[in-house]
Amino acid sequence: MPKKKETQFELNWKTAEQLLEERKNIERIPTGTPLDELIGGGIEVGEVIEFYGEYGSGKTQISFTLATYVSGQLKQDVVFIDCEGTFRPERIREIAINRGYDPNEVLKRIYVAQPKTTDEQIAALEKIPKDIKPKLIVIDGVTTLFRSEYIGRETLAEKQGLLRKYLYNLKRYARENNAAIVVTNQVYQSPEASPFLPLELRELSSGGHSLYHAIDNRIFIRKSKNGIRIARLVDSSMYPTQERPFQITEKGVEPPREQS
Ligand code: ADP
Ligand code: MG
Repeated sequence: MPKKKETQFELNWKTAEQLLEERKNIERIPTGTPLDELIGGGIEVGEVIEFYGEYGSGKTQISFTLATYVSGQLKQDVVFIDCEGTFRPERIREIAINRGYDPNEVLKRIYVAQPKTTDEQIAALEKIPKDIKPKLIVIDGVTTLFRSEYIGRETLAEKQGLLRKYLYNLKRYARENNAAIVVTNQVYQSPEASPFLPLELRELSSGGHSLYHAIDNRIFIRKSKNGIRIARLVDSSMYPTQERPFQITEKGVEPPREQS
């Protein structure tokens, strides 16, 4: 039997108490929306959070609001990877003006990539210019290009593998650069799912389980009545499952206004 190779690294053991102390200082990026109440006041840096929901549920509007807030209020750089071609600087401008930020300053700090293929999407993350220090990275439509390039059952394993690696790299980038990462993901109705299951479980986010292990918090978005939308935190490792209503207005994502 060959002698087992000595490990070359020291495992860094800590007590839970030490970790608690370290985590007290963790920076949080508020979203400037009612969704903060679901996640302890904001997205932790080093964390990947997913917003998932149907087409038109408000995922891109949430992303625009976050980008505008981080740029306008926190005055930090934002990277926006728009995989669906729906980035609208005019809308960012509108949200910025209505929140009292200088729109030109806001637009200047948001760096946009619009990949057309999964290769470009992967490269966009690897090639973030070195002089940008984004506090927030948004990947709007994280699985969209993967879904359009990998069609059919026989490509499923390859697609899942690539997505898993992509998410892993996102998480690593977030940790190494103290950035918060937001991904959005469109859902489809799972054909096998029982109609008795709650909606957020019936509608599986595409990419399915390959994404889950790298994502720290998942928020399901759905439309409700009278222009109200509901955000529901789903199976978090730290926070209870709960919901908050919101509205999409000229200010982006806001708490519901009183009906007159
Ligand atoms: P998703 O990305 O989940 O497919 P979006 O974020 O694009 O959905 O949300 C689209 C919805 O946002 C539209 O149905 C519209 O109601 C709302 N919306 C878009 N722009 C504005 C605006 N300027 N003011 C108010 N609501 C808007
Ligand atoms: Mg969208």
